[in-house]
Parts: sequence; C-alpha cells; structure tokens
Amino acid sequence: MARTRPKRSQFRRRARAPTSPRLATVFECLACHLHSVRCTINRDTQIGQLSCERCGITFACPINHLSHAVDVYHEWIDTYGHLDTTSTSASTSSAH
Ligand SMILES: [Zn+2]
Repeated sequence: MARTRPKRSQFRRRARAPTSPRLATVFECLACHLHSVRCTINRDTQIGQLSCERCGITFACPINHLSHAVDVYHEWIDTYGHLDTTSTSASTSSAH
C-alpha cells in the first residue's frame, strides 16, 4: 500500500535579501591592503567613519543623506591616495 502524497507546489517565499552586496561596508585597506576596513555611517551627526581592524588606521569625513559606506571609502582614497607606511604627517614643511 503506497500512500500517494498529494504534491503541493510549495510557493517559494521571496528571500528577504539577507545581504545586500551592493552596500558593502568592508573594503581594502590602503595601508595594509587587507579587507579589514569597516565603514560606518552616522546619519545623526552626518559623519562617515572607517577604521581598519588590522592596522588600526581611522578616517572620518562629512557625509550627506545620500552617502554610503563606499563613499566614505572613496573619500579616504581621494584624501590619502597611495598611503605609504611612512607617516609623513609628522614632518612639518620648513618654510625657510
Ligand atoms: Zn589596515
């Protein structure tokens, strides 16, 4: 006696988009070149911040309501460009 199960075509629920790859928040570090830079957006203060979990480098810049984490990252690249491990900020330009 074989039971015949009525085959119900199960409606697949739409996945709730668990991760949105477009809005990545982890990027490559300019200093240590690892994907350990995490960007955060603070809508209240309109400040975007990022920090590398590896080398501890941090950056912050003003954002607007359209900004995403990737924009903070791009701002960081624009500001620092190719960041060298040698810190040039300590050397003050002698204007003499
Ligand atoms: Zn780093």
